[in-house]
Amino acid sequence: MFTLIDEQALQKDPAQAASIGGIVTRSNYRIPAELMDRLPQLRIITTNGVGYDGIALDHARQRNIVVTNTPDVLNKAVAELAVGLLLALLRNLPAADSFVRTGAWVGSPFPLGASLAGKKVGIVGLGRIGKEIVQRLVPFEVDISYFGRVRQAVPWRHFDSLPAMARHVDVLILSCPGGAATRHIVDAAVLQALGPDGVVVNVARGSVINEADLCDALANGIIQGAALDVFDSEPLGESSLRHMPNVVLAPHIGSATHETRRQMAELAIRNLVSFFRTGRAVTPVA
Ligand code: NAP
Repeated sequence: MFTLIDEQALQKDPAQAASIGGIVTRSNYRIPAELMDRLPQLRIITTNGVGYDGIALDHARQRNIVVTNTPDVLNKAVAELAVGLLLALLRNLPAADSFVRTGAWVGSPFPLGASLAGKKVGIVGLGRIGKEIVQRLVPFEVDISYFGRVRQAVPWRHFDSLPAMARHVDVLILSCPGGAATRHIVDAAVLQALGPDGVVVNVARGSVINEADLCDALANGIIQGAALDVFDSEPLGESSLRHMPNVVLAPHIGSATHETRRQMAELAIRNLVSFFRTGRAVTPVA
């Protein structure tokens, strides 16, 4: 039904641009207005993921190009990673692993970590993924609150100020969208409010945190630690984050399980097939 043209083929034969009706992409590629305008027949952009901050959405709307994503099917995998990163950070599991492997255990005991039980956890963005994170955290006996623009009908405390929630909590988990509206909402002031025992977990987008402020806060004891799946620039190049003992780093693997990636791919394909058959996509971005 479809003919696939990849980027390299398009570079070799730019004339093929005239026949492209759809783009399949994912969050590590940018789809700027200029690319859309090189493709006169473009009618749909299907991103294999839930975030669409890399797509020039306003331009797509102006050109009547449908944008689709793959919501919900990845919630559980991302929530599992968020909880895993948090536990790995609190108990310093990467260092514990190398402590045993290198034989350092023979010489001295491993430093104590921090318990999750009894902690106050603040979710930035209590959406589909945020709610799955909360569901998994409740059995750990933590106190949950959330920051978002809208108060929801949930039993958790709502904050409409991020610095105020950061002052209240021990753990800040970021699960909101990226893009202009959330760019650098976690900055020096929020990290200062989180305080020297506080930790940040980011499974949202690198752009949500001011990375320079984060590095400063981590290096100077303004916060305790950070667990990061996403970064300002990916793959992460040279960065002081790579040399800090109080961070746990992952290479943007929130949805990266066999089961989840298969479901995402199936939903992306269903969007394309439905759109070209019926004119309606399955999960268009609102
Ligand atoms: P969602 O259901 O749309 O939830 C997003 C939440 O963020 C909502 O509760 C919303 O609440 C809040 N929010 C939106 N704009 C905000 C703003 N300007 N300030 C504060 N809060 C804001 O989205 P989702 O499906 O849970 O996905 C969330 C994000 O996770 C994605 O956009 C993507 O960037 C990221 N993600 C990462 C990975 C990974 O591999 N690490 C994988 C999948 C998704 P209000 O409307 O009340 O503000």
